[in-house]
Amino acid sequence: MKVCLVLTFFFVLTGLVIAQPIVIRNATVIDLESGKKSPGKTIVIDGTAIKSVSAGRGHGVPRNARIVDARGGFVIPGLWDMHVHYFNNFSRVGTDNKEWYGPLFIANGVTGVRDMASDLEDRTKAKTWAEGIRNGEVGPRVVVGSNIIDGDPPFMPGMYPVKDAASARAAVRLMKEQGATYIKVYWNLSPESHAAIADEAKKLGIPFAGHVPFLVSAFTASDLGQKSIEHLTGIAETCSSKEDELRKKVWTPDVQKEVMATFDADKCRRLYRTFAKNGTYNVPTLVLHRGMQRYQDPTFRARPEFRYISGSELKEWEESPQLNREMTATEREKLFQELIEVVSQMNRAGVPLLAGTDNNIPFVVPGFDLHDELELFVAAGLSPLQALRTATLNPALYLNATDKFGSVSAGKTADIVILAADPTSDIRNTRKINAVVSNGNFLDRKDIDAILLRAKANPRK
Ligand SMILES: [Zn+2]
Repeated sequence: MKVCLVLTFFFVLTGLVIAQPIVIRNATVIDLESGKKSPGKTIVIDGTAIKSVSAGRGHGVPRNARIVDARGGFVIPGLWDMHVHYFNNFSRVGTDNKEWYGPLFIANGVTGVRDMASDLEDRTKAKTWAEGIRNGEVGPRVVVGSNIIDGDPPFMPGMYPVKDAASARAAVRLMKEQGATYIKVYWNLSPESHAAIADEAKKLGIPFAGHVPFLVSAFTASDLGQKSIEHLTGIAETCSSKEDELRKKVWTPDVQKEVMATFDADKCRRLYRTFAKNGTYNVPTLVLHRGMQRYQDPTFRARPEFRYISGSELKEWEESPQLNREMTATEREKLFQELIEVVSQMNRAGVPLLAGTDNNIPFVVPGFDLHDELELFVAAGLSPLQALRTATLNPALYLNATDKFGSVSAGKTADIVILAADPTSDIRNTRKINAVVSNGNFLDRKDIDAILLRAKANPRK
């Protein structure tokens, strides 16, 4: 008894929460691979793992378990946002995004994120944050990569420049030593440095992913084993019949128009077949492009999600040089529709896709916009099941972690979302969240509403 009291006291003091076992009854579990829906399941969660998923009352139900009746609900694995900027090294320097993003991710069922730009300090911080989550803190698990490795000079200050193949190889070795789980490549890399990164990464058994460099064809990036291509970079240029000539000067609106005018459909189909054959994932981040193109559209601007953004940040977004100011609204919308068409064709060609938002870019709201990304995928012709996979099964495959993620089954990490309606019949149902289990911690609708209320009252300044 005394020991018990002392222990309780200790845990309260340190904020350590030993998660109570959870038993979810009457759940309809969705298998993301087959799309099969299995009703009447009992899910037993103990600690941070799913202990069993079985029919009827379940077995091995712990005595002190919290019993949750999920009747009428649909259970899917926790969602992944596969392109975010979680650390402060790249924007809004001095404030970490964790305080602000973490709650919004979890409230939206996003229990895992892939960070796309971390430096050594961030990678160290990530370890502390992971510990916090293990101890019951609200936030997603974070996959950390390398610094953004770019050419010299880099595209933006703060990136890690390499001047040649030798320094590119050294950078890969250093980043791996420093705990990066993948290498992020960027626009200004020379073809030699990009190829050297690919070779060194292969030797060390670490994946590389990111932008297709300006001077590299997307065919080459894929053949070299680049594991993912972000934001559809390099695609339009590679699909142009005047590829070599135009790639060097993509940034003026006139050249962009020329890229579009010289679009070669056959060549493009060949490119998507190459991606499919090589298993090159694409992370279109359509919500990023939507913001860049639709920022003046009154319907877009009226989205309720923007209530989570402070006035000062909205003003900063307004003034961002990243927005497309060169084209007319009609031209911008046309460009956005063409990107949706690219995703449509990629999907038809069997290119593996990942849902990512590029959070921290103007007009993208953490958590909420992952659901918008899925909806845009459906607008691009993916079935709701295919769209769901881009945030569940495909991330697990991409991360080589199907033993932990991607399905609601025994032995998997206890990251799950209980929805009030079937997301495979209407993708918008991913927003109808009844409960989120994040690393074994159960949040019901009341908890989630409280998180959202706090987030709205304290937006990032
Ligand atoms: Zn990004």
